[in-house]
Amino acid sequence: MLNKSFYINTIGCQMNVYDSEQIAARLAAMGYQQAGVLEQADLVIVNTCTIRAKAEQKAFSFLGRLAKLKIKRPGLVIGVGGCMAQQEGHKILRRAPHIDLVFGTRAIDRLPLLISKIEDKRCRIVDVAWTETPDGLDTLPERRLDSPVSTFVTVMRGCDNFCTYCVVPHVRGRETSRHPDRIMEEIRGLVQSGAKEVTLLGQNVNSYGKKEGLLSFPELLSRVNTIEGLVRIRFTTSHPKDFGSGLINAFRSNEKVCDHIHLPVQSGSDRILKRMNRKYTKALYLDKIAKLRDTCPGIAITSDIIVGFPGETETDFADTMDLIKTVHFDGLFAFVYSDRPNAPAVQFRNKISEEEKRKRLQTLLKLQEHFTRIKNQALVGSVQPILVEGTSKKQSSGRFNRSQSTGQWTGRTTTNKIVNFYHHDNPQSGVDIYPGKVVYTRIEKAYAHSLWGKPIEVESATGGLKGEKSYAA
Ligand code: SF4
Repeated sequence: MLNKSFYINTIGCQMNVYDSEQIAARLAAMGYQQAGVLEQADLVIVNTCTIRAKAEQKAFSFLGRLAKLKIKRPGLVIGVGGCMAQQEGHKILRRAPHIDLVFGTRAIDRLPLLISKIEDKRCRIVDVAWTETPDGLDTLPERRLDSPVSTFVTVMRGCDNFCTYCVVPHVRGRETSRHPDRIMEEIRGLVQSGAKEVTLLGQNVNSYGKKEGLLSFPELLSRVNTIEGLVRIRFTTSHPKDFGSGLINAFRSNEKVCDHIHLPVQSGSDRILKRMNRKYTKALYLDKIAKLRDTCPGIAITSDIIVGFPGETETDFADTMDLIKTVHFDGLFAFVYSDRPNAPAVQFRNKISEEEKRKRLQTLLKLQEHFTRIKNQALVGSVQPILVEGTSKKQSSGRFNRSQSTGQWTGRTTTNKIVNFYHHDNPQSGVDIYPGKVVYTRIEKAYAHSLWGKPIEVESATGGLKGEKSYAA
């Protein structure tokens, strides 16, 4: 028994969360245990993100904390992975002498080898090489014994789109898709170990399988839909330029595919969309939204917007505000533009001042909050099937622990809205709630970011449950 432990700090998107799980699985296969707290770990991995300047600052601030820890415990091994590691490589070792390892986005499968080398020779290593295979993702060790109710599975990596503000094609490489058999195998394993909901991840899922001549993404969804014991399927991200009727119909024909899509628009101005190299117009985006709503009237739509892209005029910003007023998104992730090294937009002139960007962001968020509240309010009085994820964050930040439960639970609607509710187990009634159960809940209150409900029926989560169940009010 190795008797060593690891700690992973994950910064960034769901793709990084998935990668951290892959890293954890490989470390577990080496004999490492997961450390309860950072201070006890023998190995610390920081899985970084470079999509925004803030994420990088977060990583370096955490690495600063680790420098102090290493003074106290010189044997501590520190590794930096993810997009920032891929982009900065040797520069990170130069900037932070307490770091032992920098490994890129396609080096996860080589991690055990790299760590063993460092342990044996106390050397410092940078591995940011691209591998031929999709990251060895198809030769995974067992991921975990107990999966969370909701979990992620990467179906493809990289991106071929080259939006001018984005570094993903540079740090994650070109698109490569996993074989559907391996994806099915992984999801079946996750379901066997407790998962009820899976989110399929890719930078542009619409391109899934195209290069390799595999299934199309809608065909993959239909296949995943047949997995017994899986209750819900989500996916992200779909690029508006490639979003079409095949995927729209997949919402209707697969009962486990949730009624929610995240379709990043980024701007409502055709001029800015062109400068971003997004390859669609506002009119085309709105046309796709209309077709989607025609086929799936109850679908929730969320999006991303970048505020203050170089050269964004008041008129361009007004076009974005107009798009928001037209679509009525269920939610928006809006960010101010920040220069990313190696992204073409770094060279663009007419940068918007920080003050102006912040002002526009506040204006936009205020408008969106109005629509989010309307969307949430519209659910009050309805009965929604909620897939229970655990106890509410207010009472528990970790995994489900029945003995600590004070009866406040949390879960999501198929439209991805958080619903909190009270339920105390009653041994006489035999009604028992735990993560993974589906609870039909009457929505009583709507807030800005969540809903409050009252459970009226509990079902075992064995089949696909979608949409609203009809109940007399
Ligand atoms: S589609 Fe554009 S924004 Fe998304 S990962 Fe690819 S390059 Fe980046």
